Amino acid sequence: METIRFEDLGLSELVLKAVTDMGFESASPIQGQAIPIQLEGKDIIGQAQTGTGKTAAFGIPLLEKIDPNNKKLQAIVLCPTRELAIQVAEEMRKLAKYMHGIKVLPIYGGQDIVKQIRGLKAGTQVVIGTPGRVMDHMRRKTVKMDQIHTVILDEADEMLNMGFVEDIETILSEVPQERQTIMFSATMPKEIQDIAAKFQKDPELIRVLKKELTVPRIEQFYYMMKQKDKLEVMSRLLNMYQPKLSVVFCNTKRQVDELVIGLQGKGYFAEGLHGDLKQTQRDRVMYGFRNGKTAILVATDVAARGIDVDDVEAVFNYDIPQDEEYYVHRIGRTGRAGRTGVAFNFVVGREIYKLRDIQRYCKTKIQEKQIPSLNDVRGIKINSIFSQVEKIMQEESLDTLVQAVEERIQSQEYTNSQLIAAFLKMSIGEEGEEIEDASYNASEKKKGNTRGRKSNGRMTRLFINIGRNQGVRPGDILGAVAGESGISGDSIGSIDMYDKYTFVDVPKDSANKVCKAMKKCKIKGKSINVEIANKK
Ligand code: AMP
Repeated sequence: METIRFEDLGLSELVLKAVTDMGFESASPIQGQAIPIQLEGKDIIGQAQTGTGKTAAFGIPLLEKIDPNNKKLQAIVLCPTRELAIQVAEEMRKLAKYMHGIKVLPIYGGQDIVKQIRGLKAGTQVVIGTPGRVMDHMRRKTVKMDQIHTVILDEADEMLNMGFVEDIETILSEVPQERQTIMFSATMPKEIQDIAAKFQKDPELIRVLKKELTVPRIEQFYYMMKQKDKLEVMSRLLNMYQPKLSVVFCNTKRQVDELVIGLQGKGYFAEGLHGDLKQTQRDRVMYGFRNGKTAILVATDVAARGIDVDDVEAVFNYDIPQDEEYYVHRIGRTGRAGRTGVAFNFVVGREIYKLRDIQRYCKTKIQEKQIPSLNDVRGIKINSIFSQVEKIMQEESLDTLVQAVEERIQSQEYTNSQLIAAFLKMSIGEEGEEIEDASYNASEKKKGNTRGRKSNGRMTRLFINIGRNQGVRPGDILGAVAGESGISGDSIGSIDMYDKYTFVDVPKDSANKVCKAMKKCKIKGKSINVEIANKK
């Protein structure tokens, strides 16, 4: 498995700095292939889906091509849904962090068009938009195509499924012929090839070549969850399975650092390993892991290369790997030398598709499991405490302590069981936090990318134009929605927060009521706008 360094891809210092800030340690396979070709100015058909790093694959070369001194629209990215448009815009803004003078704007249906027009007029060079709304702006002449040199079709197959084919054709025929057209799609049906033939020039087909991959025969499980619940799930699984040594894989250096702090904060012996560490630090971490002082090693793919420790009982994919080959390498860290091992995969939302790809290419079965409940975990802890207690009773002299206990029982008004239960409670220690059910139903996606708790057709996703940047937290949203509309807090589903926006799921039959009730409401002193999100 070859490491592709961003430094070797011919990128500017400004992008390299941003990529370092984002915690990316090396380029993903699709990035390694697509970036140099796109930088050369060629058209591309890329077969890749969410989770492979495709956004940065097209986003980085696109940004490198933008002239910050030209305040006209220079590039357009078309996405199937409003949510994806927002995600792509956020990732591009992070990548453009040091490229002063570059403005990226998401435009999509449902948002106030006057506000979008203002944003477009303020010197936006890159638009990330849904086809319907882009067409709308074209008709109003608020999006002008004459200086566009790059067009990206993101999740092209999804746009076709949603019936955007005519819109896409209209848009593409308005953009100057002298342009670069990049298309990313998870699948390659005939319609996609037709669009490519009609609108692209001699495109290069990029997909990451698959070798025959054989996965070691170890048990593999996956759990659906929300991003914010990962640490709690990790802790429950560690308590439940009590692996002696574990290796946990993250996709970024930053995630490694954050997770190590999180685990240490919960009392686990965890250490991190990634490319920013000096050799002496790496040696120290590996020494601790080999001799069992460090029970949990948290690492990036690159850093974990060559880790060869026999007793690793569990591998956690805290982030789903960007490539099937990584998966095989990762889980090969356990079940060594004929021992048994187990691999746990943490899946958020659409990553389920990536996991299906992994299963297909690696010809392996990864079984879905329910996240252990707090009760399950407590049951295991109780059993484990009782077996320790039995051992102490068999092996140690307790006479003086027995006397102390008997005196206590005689002088107080509680039973033996109550006393033991109280001791048990003390030994169990801190119990975990509640987590949200996060099953992801593919058929829901078509209805507007609904995801998360209770996203089962009975919920409607609302869009609120306020987010993290305004200092708002999910609790504020929950409080405002429940408080203003009178619906119970329990009935409110997922709250997904971005820098400038928030999506919240509410029961379908209350959606209009909530929108109406929140019309005049303020959150953190700011007037807000709430709408149903499932519009194209
Ligand atoms: P995407 O496939 O574009 O939806 O990206 C999935 C996730 O991977 C996003 O959170 C990206 O920020 C992240 N990502 C993209 N490139 C890399 C990389 N080279 N290393 C680690 N994470 C990455």
